[in-house]
Amino acid sequence: PRTLVVTAHAAPIDVSRVLLIVDDRSESVRLDAMRRDFVANTSHELKTPIGAVSLLAEAVDSAADDPDQVRRFAARLSTEAARLGALVQQIIEFSRVQGADPLDAAEAVSLDDVLRTAVDRTRVAAEARGVTVVVGKRAHLWTLGDQAMLVTAVQNLVANAIAFSPQKGHVGVGLRKRDGVVEIAVSDQGIGIAEEDLGRVFERFYRTDQARSRQTGGTGLGLSIVKHIAENHGGEARAWSRLGRGSTFTIRLPEIPAPTTARTPRREKE
Ligand code: ADP
Repeated sequence: PRTLVVTAHAAPIDVSRVLLIVDDRSESVRLDAMRRDFVANTSHELKTPIGAVSLLAEAVDSAADDPDQVRRFAARLSTEAARLGALVQQIIEFSRVQGADPLDAAEAVSLDDVLRTAVDRTRVAAEARGVTVVVGKRAHLWTLGDQAMLVTAVQNLVANAIAFSPQKGHVGVGLRKRDGVVEIAVSDQGIGIAEEDLGRVFERFYRTDQARSRQTGGTGLGLSIVKHIAENHGGEARAWSRLGRGSTFTIRLPEIPAPTTARTPRREKE
C-alpha cells in the first residue's frame, strides 16, 4: 500500500485505510437507500391484500341476508388473510437474513443434512400436488455458516420447484463439488422462466406473469431471501431455465473439510 507522509513529525497515514473509511460511508448510504426502498415496496405490496380484506368484510356485511353469498365471501376473506399472513412472514424472514451475518456464529454445516431437512419440510406441499421430489445420494460435503438459514434457502427453492411443476411432476435435488466449490441444484420440469425474466427473478417482489396467472399465492420474496443467504455465506445463487420446459436453480458455497467428530466415521476417510 502507498503511504502518505503528512508532516515530518506526524505518523504516516496509510492511504488504503483512508480509502476504506470513505468506502464504509458510501456503503452505509447504500444500505439506507436499500432500507427506504424496501419499506416503500413492502407497504405497496401489503396494500393490495389489506384492501381486499376490507372490501370483502364490507361485502359479507351487505350480503347478510344471503347465506350462500356470505359463505363465498368468507372463503375469499380467509384466502386473502392467509396470503397476508404469508407475506408478513416472508417480510420478517427477509429482514432477518438481510441484517444477519451467518459467519458471526458459524458452525460446520453438513449440506447433506440441509438438503434432507429442506425436502422433509416441503413434503406436504409435494404430496398435495402429486409431485415426486428425488434427493441425490449423500455427497459428504460441508460448508461454514448457519444451518437454519441454509435450510430456509434450499426449502424456498424446493417449494418453488413444486409450486411451478405440473401435477405428478418430478423435482430433483442434488449436491456435488464443482470447480472447487460446493453446488446445490434444484431442478424441475415445470412452467419455466422466459429469458427476459430470468435476470430479475431474484429481485424483491418480482413475479413473472406466468406465476401471477397461476395464482400459486407466492410473495415474490422467496428468491431474494435465497440470494441473500447464499451471498452472506460467501456464495451465490443462479438460475437457468427454458420457458415451458423447466428450471434449475443453484446455490454455490465455499467448501470446508468434514469436521473430525463422531458425525464423520473415520473409515470414510481411509
Ligand atoms: P414467489 O413467492 O412468487 O415464488 P420467489 O421470489 O420465490 O417468489 O420467485 C419469484 C418468481 O420467480 C416467481 O413468482 C416465479 O415467477 C419465478 N420462479 C421462481 N421459481 C420458479 C420455478 N421453479 N419455475 C418457474 N418460475 C419460477
